[in-house]
Amino acid sequence: MADRRSSTHSPFRDLHVCDACGRPFVAPVSVVETLDGEHHVVELSCTNCGWSDIGVHRDADLIALDRQLDRATSQIAATADGLALAFELERIECFARALDDGLILPEDF
Ligand SMILES: [Zn+2]
Repeated sequence: MADRRSSTHSPFRDLHVCDACGRPFVAPVSVVETLDGEHHVVELSCTNCGWSDIGVHRDADLIALDRQLDRATSQIAATADGLALAFELERIECFARALDDGLILPEDF
């Protein structure tokens, strides 16, 4: 796999990919200063390893980062839904097993 970090100083690199750990967990912390309509000084931070950086970024790159975060958020929500469902199925299975084993009696209710 190609090392994405070799393109650190390319204006086209993905902002959501961390320079330090290479994981896609970089999020904007704050806009330090707006230079003009298109360039902003932004503090970015990696929620995975704690790396942070203050740099000048183009509006378009920040919008792309925002979209990437939205996508990641919906993926996490979908995963959480899947986990909740798996947990619920597991509970139902345990209940069914307990019923089968005669561990749950009508007088329990
Ligand atoms: Zn990182």
